[in-house]
Amino acid sequence: MSGSYVSGLKCRLCGKHYPKEALNFCTDDFGPLEVAYNYDMVAAALSRGAIEARPRTMWRYRELLPVDGEPTVGRHVGCTPLIRADRLARALGVSELYIKNDAVNHPSLSFKDRVVAVALSKAVELGFQTVGCASTGNLAGSVAANAAAAGLDAYVLIPDGLEQGKVLGATIYGAKVIAIEGTYDHVNRLCSQIAFRFGWGFVNVNLRPFYAEGSKSMGFEIAEDLGWRAPDHVVAPMAGGSLIGKIYKAFKEFEQLGLLDGPVTARMFGAQATGCNPITNTVKTAATKVKPVRNPDTIAKSLAIGDPADGFFASQLIRQTGGWSEDVDDDAIVDAMRLLAETEGVWAETAGGVTVAVAQKLIEQGKIDRNGSTVLCITGNGLKTQEALIGKIARPVVIKPTMEAFEALVEAEAPALAAAGA
Ligand SMILES: [Zn+2]
Repeated sequence: MSGSYVSGLKCRLCGKHYPKEALNFCTDDFGPLEVAYNYDMVAAALSRGAIEARPRTMWRYRELLPVDGEPTVGRHVGCTPLIRADRLARALGVSELYIKNDAVNHPSLSFKDRVVAVALSKAVELGFQTVGCASTGNLAGSVAANAAAAGLDAYVLIPDGLEQGKVLGATIYGAKVIAIEGTYDHVNRLCSQIAFRFGWGFVNVNLRPFYAEGSKSMGFEIAEDLGWRAPDHVVAPMAGGSLIGKIYKAFKEFEQLGLLDGPVTARMFGAQATGCNPITNTVKTAATKVKPVRNPDTIAKSLAIGDPADGFFASQLIRQTGGWSEDVDDDAIVDAMRLLAETEGVWAETAGGVTVAVAQKLIEQGKIDRNGSTVLCITGNGLKTQEALIGKIARPVVIKPTMEAFEALVEAEAPALAAAGA
């Protein structure tokens, strides 16, 4: 495979070109760098048939992912189920609803495996032996798991006070997990300094341009699984604000390459928690700058980024596509986690509750058309945020090990059933 599908990196502000290296900002204006592709070459190599003939992993779209050689990390990531969610659709009052279920992504049960697969494959190409990340939880587990499998040394920095499932889910892989007394934004700043000082590959700092491209695979999979079309609406959770933009970029790249039936008319909707809603505020006020949230306070800890790196681009995209953004409080998040579980058998983490609750709100507001097709992006697994549910859902009923005790229970809870069984 040729390495020339990627021509280099490009500043999103001034357009200046850079070579393929571990650098995330323009040295002229500090603008974020993005991967640039030779789309003519990609078009010559990529067709529906070529994609369909490949294994069901995110690497079936490899020409549109910024790895030059064979991917060496995360080779089994992606191609999670796109579920037609008719029971949830009825509950929300829409006709065509899908769940993109990255709660079951391999290996660490979140969409972060997509970005880490790309970032660490690139880290290996660039010769890094030590990698790291600043994380609100899911990224920690993904970097730790994928680095372990690749034989890389990993330093994972998190804010102190994360859910136990997220902390254990990084430590078990042997990564050096360091909790910082502060918010995610403190953690992120420290990681930038560490990456520079020690020359390590931090997936969401100096490897960020490559890392961020991995999220496109979620959009590619959605479009392919819908029969080579983009949906009418996408609802995506927003932390740093990168995912929503990359899903849209994926649709547009497929369109540009002639892989879709019809033009992309998708409207993009962002979901945040009320306790940390900087991007939603930017969308609603049409502000030209994101005003950071200083002290995020929400059970959706994975979305608690007060100063989102891609927040401004996300807010622009949402407005340009005719979408909108909303936020929901902690009670609404828990209710929506239960609704998703009870209607579709999908246990999402708190961020998934944010996505479902915001979708519900946008449908009620008329911002999402009840007759269009809607995809909800579920990005992480409920096993990792169990604290959010403690005391909020029913506990098991305890009875004696006798038929009399069970009959008494059924009699009390469902007299009709008890009568039928008598
Ligand atoms: Zn620049």
